[in-house]
Amino acid sequence: MSEACLGCGTCTFVCPTCQCFDIRDFKTREGVVRYRCWDSCMYSDFTLMAHGNSRTTQMQRFRQRFMNKLVYYPSQNDGLYSCVGCGRCVNKCPQKLNIVKVIKTLGGKTND
Ligand code: SF4
Ligand code: SF4
Repeated sequence: MSEACLGCGTCTFVCPTCQCFDIRDFKTREGVVRYRCWDSCMYSDFTLMAHGNSRTTQMQRFRQRFMNKLVYYPSQNDGLYSCVGCGRCVNKCPQKLNIVKVIKTLGGKTND
């Protein structure tokens, strides 16, 4: 399912439950300004650490996004999914990748 994913990150920026961020230092004439900005688990450098990167393929990144919303988050939050079913990611994805297909592939049920 991940083969068509371009890794553009659009799905994560329009998603109301995605919350990943990065900390950046920006050099200005008045000195260094530290700020927080959006980041995306779909980007290849998202998990980059001093020892390397724990997710080296788009398949791993794609898997992480859906496993977090549908499996990991519910397991730590009384079964609450990290997806409200708004469909923004489906509408904006240039490849029309669909969380409903992922849910069905994982064996879940949907209302459609
Ligand atoms: S359908 Fe779910 S994963 Fe997609 S944007 Fe809405 S909350 Fe996020
Ligand atoms: S919007 Fe679609 S193509 Fe872009 S990262 Fe998300 S799933 Fe992949």
